[in-house]
Amino acid sequence: MRVLARLRVVERATRPENLEFAAAADCRWREPPDHVKTPGQVLGRHGVGCEGTHGVFPKCNFACTPCYRSRDANRVRIDSSHTVRAVDAQMELLERLCGPVAHAQLIGSKVCLLPPDDHAAALRAMRSRGREPMSFTHGDFGYDYLERLALGSGGTPRFARLSFAARFDRFMYGRKGISRPASERSLNPYRKQFADMFTRLREEHGVRSLLAQDMTVTLGNLAEVAEMIRDCHAMGYRMFSFQPAAMVGDNRRWKENYREVTSDTVWAEIERGAGTRLDYRVFEHGDVRCNHVAYGFYVGERWHPFLDGGDPRDLRTRDAFFRYLGRVSFTGAPTAVLAVRLGRVIARHPRVAVIAVGWAVRAVHRVGLFNLWQHRRRIRLCTFVMHHFMDAVDVTPA
Ligand code: SF4
Repeated sequence: MRVLARLRVVERATRPENLEFAAAADCRWREPPDHVKTPGQVLGRHGVGCEGTHGVFPKCNFACTPCYRSRDANRVRIDSSHTVRAVDAQMELLERLCGPVAHAQLIGSKVCLLPPDDHAAALRAMRSRGREPMSFTHGDFGYDYLERLALGSGGTPRFARLSFAARFDRFMYGRKGISRPASERSLNPYRKQFADMFTRLREEHGVRSLLAQDMTVTLGNLAEVAEMIRDCHAMGYRMFSFQPAAMVGDNRRWKENYREVTSDTVWAEIERGAGTRLDYRVFEHGDVRCNHVAYGFYVGERWHPFLDGGDPRDLRTRDAFFRYLGRVSFTGAPTAVLAVRLGRVIARHPRVAVIAVGWAVRAVHRVGLFNLWQHRRRIRLCTFVMHHFMDAVDVTPA
């Protein structure tokens, strides 16, 4: 009986479709206007959207221009029990409105100002609501803090993986050692130092990480975007995310007319840094005026997309992905569980294996077998993202 009960648990955990997730995604698909229901739209077909905490821990010790916090941000209550309770309440709401699993950012402002145990409690609260958390930070903390966050009492890891999005750009004032950066390049040692802490954490304690490098873009650093990507793509960041500055938050911190930088000019600079065209229509997350995303990987110094938007066979692969795997939740699933879920999809639809092999052959051919072999130790996943705040006047109809 006990064996049967256990088998039933395993069977449920490895079911390809999570019915609640599927219902939330169906609901998401019904909501947006028709103009975003494009063939590449991810919302409602494989995801329910971006989530994040709001106004929970807005304390910050930097003085960036711009900053999207309100001018009262440093007066908000931030004691630990209040913070963890408020994070949990927001996650409970998101779970109810958006379904059982999703990615969510712990937007503090700077949660590394929380004591490590409280930060860990906030991450646990998010996971307990099915949210895969990513902590948002200015990155101005040391290995000691990271280790105390990652390890519980007794020195054993309390998380298998930690995700951080770290903002580094020259409009940030207050970083230790470089309080007023003169250029983006002058921040590169700090970007590297931040990523290196997570390499060390994995080597010493086996805790994996997912890191994103965030950067606000204005006319003042637009011309440095490409160079930053070229200099930093191999440091260990899995995502490079750019935000054209917006006139949001504390208007005492607005130093330029931020409307002068457009999505197109920023994306063109990201493409210059990646050294290739980045097709943001293959996969879309909501409205492309708000989000551009290109998924791919580096082989040595060259970036390659997973799917080539100019190849109809790759677009059919994308469509098949939505059809057969759209309702399979990847978020937070351990690799072994995910592998069994995918195996069960293939057992039900053997065509999926044929499509996957066809895609893999094309991808290897594009990159080049010799090139892959030559750079086999320098293959790294890397996603480029741009989030451009839309004006309220556009958001309502969108
Ligand atoms: S933009 Fe700068 S000042 Fe504002 S919350 Fe982020 S790090 Fe702090």
